[in-house]
Amino acid sequence: GTNPDHIRRIAEIAAQYQPRKMKKHDPLPKYSGLEPLTITENTNFVNVGERTNVTGSAMFKRLIKEENFEEALTVALQQVEGGAQIIDVNMDEGMLDSEEAMKTFLNLIASEPDIARVPIMVDSSKWSVIEEGLKCIQGKAIVNSISLKEGEENFLQQAKLIRRYGAAVIVMAFDEKGQADNYERRIEICERAYKLLTEKLNFPPQDIIFDPNILTVGTGIEEHNNYAVDFIKATKWIKENLPHALVSGGVSNVSFSFRGNNVVREAMNSAFLYHAIQAGLDMGIVNAGMIEVYDDIPKELLERVEDVLLNRREDATERLTDYADSVKGGEKKQVKDESWRKGTVQERLSHALVKGIVEFIEKDTEEARQQYPKPLEVIEGPLMDGMNVVGDLFGSGKMFLPQVVKSARVMKKAVAYLLPYIEEEKKRSGDQAKNAGKILMATVKGDVHDIGKNIVSVVLACNNYEVIDMGVMVPAEKILKEAKAQNVDMIGLSGLITPSLDEMVHLASEMKRQGFTIPLLIGGATTSRAHTAVKISPEYDHPVVHVLDASRSVPVAGSLLTKDIKVKEKFVQEIRDSYQLMREQHASKQARKSMLSIEEARKNRANVDWDKLDYVQPSFIGKKILPDFNLAELREYIDWTPFFSTWQLAGKFPAILEDEKVGEEAGRLYADAQRMLDTLIREKWLTAKGVVGFWPAQAEGDDIILFKDESRTEKLEVLHQLRQQGKKAEGIPNFSLADFVANGKGKNDYVGGFAVTAGLGIEKKLQEFAKDHDDYNSILLKALADRLAEAFAERLHQLVRTEYWGYAKEEQIDNEQLIKEKYQGIRPAPGYPACPDHTEKGILFNLLEAESIGIQLTESYAMYPAASVSGLYFMHPHSKYFGLGKIERDQLVDYANRKGMSEKEMERWLRPVLNE
Ligand code: SAH
Repeated sequence: GTNPDHIRRIAEIAAQYQPRKMKKHDPLPKYSGLEPLTITENTNFVNVGERTNVTGSAMFKRLIKEENFEEALTVALQQVEGGAQIIDVNMDEGMLDSEEAMKTFLNLIASEPDIARVPIMVDSSKWSVIEEGLKCIQGKAIVNSISLKEGEENFLQQAKLIRRYGAAVIVMAFDEKGQADNYERRIEICERAYKLLTEKLNFPPQDIIFDPNILTVGTGIEEHNNYAVDFIKATKWIKENLPHALVSGGVSNVSFSFRGNNVVREAMNSAFLYHAIQAGLDMGIVNAGMIEVYDDIPKELLERVEDVLLNRREDATERLTDYADSVKGGEKKQVKDESWRKGTVQERLSHALVKGIVEFIEKDTEEARQQYPKPLEVIEGPLMDGMNVVGDLFGSGKMFLPQVVKSARVMKKAVAYLLPYIEEEKKRSGDQAKNAGKILMATVKGDVHDIGKNIVSVVLACNNYEVIDMGVMVPAEKILKEAKAQNVDMIGLSGLITPSLDEMVHLASEMKRQGFTIPLLIGGATTSRAHTAVKISPEYDHPVVHVLDASRSVPVAGSLLTKDIKVKEKFVQEIRDSYQLMREQHASKQARKSMLSIEEARKNRANVDWDKLDYVQPSFIGKKILPDFNLAELREYIDWTPFFSTWQLAGKFPAILEDEKVGEEAGRLYADAQRMLDTLIREKWLTAKGVVGFWPAQAEGDDIILFKDESRTEKLEVLHQLRQQGKKAEGIPNFSLADFVANGKGKNDYVGGFAVTAGLGIEKKLQEFAKDHDDYNSILLKALADRLAEAFAERLHQLVRTEYWGYAKEEQIDNEQLIKEKYQGIRPAPGYPACPDHTEKGILFNLLEAESIGIQLTESYAMYPAASVSGLYFMHPHSKYFGLGKIERDQLVDYANRKGMSEKEMERWLRPVLNE
């Protein structure tokens, strides 16, 4: 019990002592992912990984746009493995549902402990995206960024919310008047922001990180000369005057004017960091691969770089530019050098192979044939030696795909030359060619795209595999029959569109039924490691391996076909384990997604005030055919960036031509492409045809009803749309394309559709190239036909906006804006993320009678010729691209009913988006 006397006594004693003073800790900046990151005095500069940023990395942007989140995660992982202590995630891109992309990606990161261990910097210029990100992040994140751009009230409101989410914040030196670009403005804004945050909100000062704007120097504009000096000075001032606050910045920006010259850029980034860190810079967003070691920068270069950064002399920029040109020129200078012709025949063959020169190959091969006892030995000796050099250079990233394909052309020509002699020899002695293995390649039934498969075939052939390429649209029975007949060592399947995934599953189960034991390789744009692990590999008891790109095909084939059983078993076991892990992850991810019923999702449709919109009547109703579109005109509309990625050269056009690493190769390829375009247009190798139509339309639920004419009484067709079913944040709708068409009576809305092709006539030329063993020109032509088809789609869309539909008659935008699709209205394509049901192409093709212009649909609804594009047109300014995401079975059943298909049939088409 309590004795009041005792309590009194304790109180008397206690009163003689002072309460213990809490030890005063300096507040340390702390962030966390799964693991904490505390910044102490001893912490070195903190690297923030910059590659998971759609505005900064073309590759990451493509992956996110294609919703290839699995691969996008590997970018994040590489950042962490490469030493990033924080990763910056940015999804700001006009054609993305940035909120959705941020949420999806961050949620995926959360289930990857190797990535999630580091803190996230959620980066956007849109508050809604930042908030969406904050909701997903566990641990303590950093917001990048807020500023006084829109006034104090907005600034404080956002900062308050950030505190509530428990995050730290980056404050940009930006205010109502604009960006701070000198020393005084930088410190004025930072001080003001600091006071507001600490005094009005009691914001912990150690959670404030200032970004005083790293701006580009060496631009040739005098006002820019002191940018770096001012940044460094401002950094020092902030560290001295705003207690506990940190300083950060986007580092690569400083050297932006020297883009294309990585030697100079790396030196600039590194020298800038050296000085800024001395002034107190705590962290920075950097590309670890773009920083040279300060001490390794050549003296002369360092001096000139620092002259620019520290604004030490008036002619600093000129002097650095001169130096930069000399570094570049020295590397690039090339004269046509014929001295290699003086080497031995072995050396000449090797040189021709590595450089891809066909000019003398038959002559040199003949010379070699006379030297060697047997013709086969020419292949197995000098030719294979040369190809091994090519393979090694490619494998180590020192040679690029177009060169490899050119090398293969040289090899093929030499082999073709020797073939009759080899046959003769075989009759005499029975000798057979030895190779690393026989691989059968095919694009599956219903699918037509084969550039990727051609490339893999060429790369494998370069590495001494015998490749049997069965072409496109090959049914499973045919593939397996041929595999048996030819006794191949391995089968490689390729596919571009989602229905092909099922076909691959089918083929795997057939391999099992027929008792095959050889490995199965899976590749192509629609495939993924996850799908291979979860859906294909369980169907077949022998190795099934997803191959990411052509360069990976060689080591994979090597490991699977090696005679060294231990190496093979180890590889197969690793694949098995990692696929097993993926299956488990997949199963657990599934359970976590929170989904709405289709009724609930419909209640959250995009709310559009239809009364406020202008409706424009198209210049005609029904369809119109463009029987022979001018190729020279289309050429002007080509988007070149995807052309280079087809050839596995990464980078944006035209900057890629100046790229330090791939620029030279990209330039050669581009020149070849221009030459082929010249001839192709002059000799009319291809014919471009298109058809476009418009119809009175009205949304009814998730369907879009098209009427025969303006009376809007007789239904012509129904375009069935799907609706997002993932649970959304407050205020964000569950989109369906049907939301972009007026749904009330009396609103005279319209919808358009189109199909175009630039692939008519291509087969004839392809056969000529095949006869000449010329894979290079064959792939080049296919890639150009694809480009022309996309250009046609872009040009036709422009004609639609300005003339045929005419809702944007005044539009004036340049090619770059066109490529970015910075115009009113969209042209969603069936099979793409907003409308992944390929069978809707059937309805569109009926409406347009697209077969009449020579485009056919395969049984999987792929378009043939492959160089074809189709889609719908929506005109309203609120219409936008989005990703459907996963749907539930309730919608699948409803959708099947609306389309008059059985649930089972529908499931077959929509399986990739079904959340089961
Ligand atoms: N300039 C590019 C254009 C092709 S990609 C090129 O030359 O390759 C852009 C097209 O893909 C869009 O015009 C649209 O037709 C389609 N697309 C992109 N995102 C989509 C989405 N979320 N839903 C439906 N279609 C989409």
